[in-house]
Amino acid sequence: MGLKAAVVGSGIAGIASALRVRAKGYEVTIFEQNKYTGGKLHSFRRGDYRFDYGPSLFTMPQLVDELFGLFDKNPASYFEYKRKETICHYFWEDGTQFQIDADQQKFIKEASKTFDEPEKHLIDYLESTRTKYDLTSRLFLEKSLHKFSTYLSSDTLKAIVSLSKLHLDQTLNEVNNKYFTHPKLVQLFNRFATYNGSSPYKTPGIMSMIPHLEMNYGAYIPKHGMHDISQSLTQLCKDVGISFKMNSKVEGINHKNNKAEGLTVNGETHHFDTVVCNMDVYSAYNSLLKGLAPPKKTLEQERSSSALIFYWGINKSFKDLDLHNILFTEDYQNEFDHLFHKKYFGDDPTVYINITSKDVEADAPEGCENWFVMVNAPTNCGQDWKSQTTYIREKIIAKINTCLGIKIQDHIEVEHVETPETIEAATSSFQGSLYGTSSNNKFAAFLRHPNFSSQLKNLYFCGGSVHPGGGIPLCFLSAKIVSDLVPKA
Ligand SMILES: Cc1cc2nc3c(=O)[nH]c(=O)nc-3n(C[C@H](O)[C@H](O)[C@H](O)COP(=O)(O)OP(=O)(O)OC[C@H]3O[C@@H](n4cnc5c(N)ncnc54)[C@H](O)[C@@H]3O)c2cc1C
Repeated sequence: MGLKAAVVGSGIAGIASALRVRAKGYEVTIFEQNKYTGGKLHSFRRGDYRFDYGPSLFTMPQLVDELFGLFDKNPASYFEYKRKETICHYFWEDGTQFQIDADQQKFIKEASKTFDEPEKHLIDYLESTRTKYDLTSRLFLEKSLHKFSTYLSSDTLKAIVSLSKLHLDQTLNEVNNKYFTHPKLVQLFNRFATYNGSSPYKTPGIMSMIPHLEMNYGAYIPKHGMHDISQSLTQLCKDVGISFKMNSKVEGINHKNNKAEGLTVNGETHHFDTVVCNMDVYSAYNSLLKGLAPPKKTLEQERSSSALIFYWGINKSFKDLDLHNILFTEDYQNEFDHLFHKKYFGDDPTVYINITSKDVEADAPEGCENWFVMVNAPTNCGQDWKSQTTYIREKIIAKINTCLGIKIQDHIEVEHVETPETIEAATSSFQGSLYGTSSNNKFAAFLRHPNFSSQLKNLYFCGGSVHPGGGIPLCFLSAKIVSDLVPKA
């Protein structure tokens, strides 16, 4: 009989790990507490509108394609996507508008004109984001940082020799201020800190590599919306013989003699030779790994920010808006002070509006749009989310009406809300954080939990709460690292 592997959770990293471990010859079963797969990457309907629950920005689609390739399947027969020509529309209250064009030459010319910034500043900045990515991606993103062999590689040597180019001793905001003179351009590039739920005033300058993913590699939209990613991979799992146990909350990871032996689900024990845990690692130590000493320092790391989202069916369409739209606050530093210190909403949030019906017609009735309206939120520490929701809804509507010159409240015909508290309940993500731990200090990458257990043989960890971090591309990379660590069946 072949070796058996269990995966706890069907988030995107759980699904990708299941596929990779299956490709190594294991018989694989995924246990998922919800009735749907995909974790934060799932979809729901309200009235005639379809909404993606969580992620909206899709970069590095090759990481999805690769999974079909493991089984000699043609990715396009499961999953199609297109590259966006305009990446994001930006709006400020003083009427300034700017669109990031996917064509870098056009972006540089337009940004230079709009913000009166010398083209050279933009060229130098984009070049530095590329350099940072090239120097560190193989080291920080594609390998375990917790294996000695990683530090003996030539990639490590290259990164060490070029340490000064990585801007580890400055914050992202300081680096952006060094390159740009116009405060709006600094703000625009500061926003990339939120891509892993961090603050630009704390996260190190190395994070200026993030724009490289979006601006050099491109932003994409799957043909049927973001849930296509998890749905098509779920189908692939089924086609290659991976079993799903839905509505199956794992209660414990069983172990004996420092070795994982299987799971307890609904009071029953199931034997497995290998266990991959996709549950948030903080919650996993608290609920599944009782009896083990939790890695205190790792689990004490600051969590990434959360979100409060209004899903609105809008009975009108707006030609100035596209798939991704940002309406900026007038005081960015104050917003992050509220997110990470005061832990409640300030009075002037940055508002993100994602509208998949701009590209996926079936997502809203004709002449209407499905708005996913998100503000960054502090993590759930027991705040009164009902009153915070009422408060921020009013501020969001005011911001939209000022920036776009409309009366959006007259056009909302369907509404659903998710808060940090409900995100935590649905995904077991501790405090409802979107990306596991924040990157608000220069050691964050080293302080994330490794992709393996140092206490139990045969136990591995994948997903946004462990190395290399949150966000869809990094979750896929965590699965790749896990499969490199799991022995062949
Ligand atoms: C509102 C929002 C916006 C986001 N925007 C973006 C974006 O634009 N781009 C981007 O790249 N990323 C974005 N992210 C982050 C991204 O969604 C996550 O990093 C990624 O989806 C996390 O995947 P994961 O595999 O780690 O786990 P999750 O998606 O958290 O899935 C974990 C799964 O494990 C299951 N589970 C937990 N405990 C148990 C148990 N005991 N038994 C059985 N099952 C269990 C859960 O039910 C869940 O299905 C966003 C997230 C949110 C919530």
